[in-house]
Amino acid sequence: MKTYIVFDLEWNQSPHGKEESIEDFPFEIIEIGAVKLDEQFHRIEEFHRLIRPQVYQQMHYVISEVTHMDMEELQSQGEDFATAAADFVRWCGPEAVYCTWGSMDLAELQRNLKYYQIENPFKNPLYYYDVQKLYGLLYREGAKPSLDVAVEELGLLEDRPFHRALDDAYYTGRVLEVLSEDPGAEQLLQYWSVDYFRLPASREEELRMTFPSYSKYVSRIFPSREAAMADRGVTEMKCYMCGRTLRKKVRWFTPNQKIYYGLANCPEHGYLKGKLRIKKVDDDRVFVIRTLKFTDEEGVERIMERKEYVRKKRSERNKAKRKRQQQDVQQKAVRKKKKTPVECG
Ligand SMILES: [Zn+2]
Repeated sequence: MKTYIVFDLEWNQSPHGKEESIEDFPFEIIEIGAVKLDEQFHRIEEFHRLIRPQVYQQMHYVISEVTHMDMEELQSQGEDFATAAADFVRWCGPEAVYCTWGSMDLAELQRNLKYYQIENPFKNPLYYYDVQKLYGLLYREGAKPSLDVAVEELGLLEDRPFHRALDDAYYTGRVLEVLSEDPGAEQLLQYWSVDYFRLPASREEELRMTFPSYSKYVSRIFPSREAAMADRGVTEMKCYMCGRTLRKKVRWFTPNQKIYYGLANCPEHGYLKGKLRIKKVDDDRVFVIRTLKFTDEEGVERIMERKEYVRKKRSERNKAKRKRQQQDVQQKAVRKKKKTPVECG
């Protein structure tokens, strides 16, 4: 039987900031809360564990303020992470569809598993529902409100606190249940998210997903941004309705080297606007998320304007740079002139 596992984690971090934080392990999970929903999104079971910290032995003040958890409670009632995680995965079962509020929890769970050298139990690629994204798509034109705001807006508020793992999982499950009862649910539930903790290892593993209103491509890892932008698979624009490779009307341009915009036209299906997001893996390496979406004349105009703006800014910057260089040369010449008589004398 297919079940939905709606889960939430609380984690702690170094109370002394980044310098005393362990690389690759910035967040230590201290609580797992989850509800299991049946195929109709009705709640059938709950799961809850506290975890005894082994790395960060002091609470970060923000974490204790937000969650009201303290070290004593965790030390006396918590289990070690490996045991709790194994229990959780067993409880979820093999047919679990994971659902979270936002996109961080699955990644942090995997990062903690990796730190303790526990084998990653999840499917790869790992598709899941980001309930915050679904809520935003249906009710907020894509905006992403916090869980307490969504709960308030839907009138689901009950006498349960926020920011503890089980309560947040419970509320996220309730939001998902409401979404599933909406007339637009069938289409909404086609908007799977994919987890980026494990990225495609080769060109063959790269991901291509088509949703009702856009398409998404997730690249493999490249040694640099330049290498990514030199790859045809990254920069091509194909119509996701008919598969045609399109000629670009506006070639990829970027205001900041992090996001690129482009535009193409399918003779059959119309204008397609593209966005490339360059995501850092570490200091040099990157991967790319490309989304393509159909647009109208107005959308085309906006892209043209943005391109013109970026061009203008760049030319202003170049002009200023040339001017600075010129001034440098002039100043050097003046200094030289002043020096000359001394040197001659
Ligand atoms: Zn087409």
